[in-house]
Amino acid sequence: MKVLVAVKRAVDYNVSVRVKADGTDVDIANVKMSMNPFDEIAMEEAVRLKEAGIATEIVAVSAGVAQCQETLRSALALGADRAILIETNAELQPLAVAKLLAAVVKQESPSLVILGKQAIDDDANQTGQMLAGLLDLPQAPFASKLVVEGDKATVTREVDGGLETISMGLPAVVTADLRLNEPRYATLPNIMKAKKKPLDTTTPETLGVDVAPRLKTLKVAEPPVRKAGIIVPDVATLVEKLRNEAKVLG
Ligand code: AMP
Repeated sequence: MKVLVAVKRAVDYNVSVRVKADGTDVDIANVKMSMNPFDEIAMEEAVRLKEAGIATEIVAVSAGVAQCQETLRSALALGADRAILIETNAELQPLAVAKLLAAVVKQESPSLVILGKQAIDDDANQTGQMLAGLLDLPQAPFASKLVVEGDKATVTREVDGGLETISMGLPAVVTADLRLNEPRYATLPNIMKAKKKPLDTTTPETLGVDVAPRLKTLKVAEPPVRKAGIIVPDVATLVEKLRNEAKVLG
């Protein structure tokens, strides 16, 4: 069984991103970039399926600038067998990525496509759902458990207020939530081996996909600054302030 994993090169989760002075966007010039954390979880799940003898091949795919090669090399070091870079300098919105991934899925015919539930830079949480829609495939977003048996997958999903378990036929699209697994670190020997694994490059044009943005960002703003707290002398004052100032007590 072939598994395709989508890995995005995103701003590293340790970076605190600043809004540009003119409010048009965030400033990501010279900031550290890494594999989107949910995509590390997606990769780990694919590797576990391979270790369990269920998956036979893992293909990592990334769309974006040439430096996405680094992200793909990380995926190869984690256990992907080969990688595909869809190279473009264009700004990619989730619909464009979903169309690009759909084109690769048509070429590769994987039984399972695993994405992260969300990219931590655009916070869109759309690509997996759009991909399944474009390909008319069953989907299980926000997966916290995945069991593959024969041509079926049983997925436990994180939903508001609980867990939902669904069964679906393969091929299918799954998006990884935080509790699906704890991703491993790549070992040095595997980082070295990853350098020799195949990494093919294609382009949106070759795949016949129009990646023109459909959405326009009007404004980007910092969240409001939190006011400093105060220390109250006793419980009576606390209750009085909650009642009369914060007005959260009746
Ligand atoms: P989003 O819908 O942008 O929040 O992204 C959800 C998931 O789609 C990510 O966790 C990735 O698995 C995948 N994805 C988004 N953008 C890209 C990209 N440029 N290249 C590869 N995968 C992507």
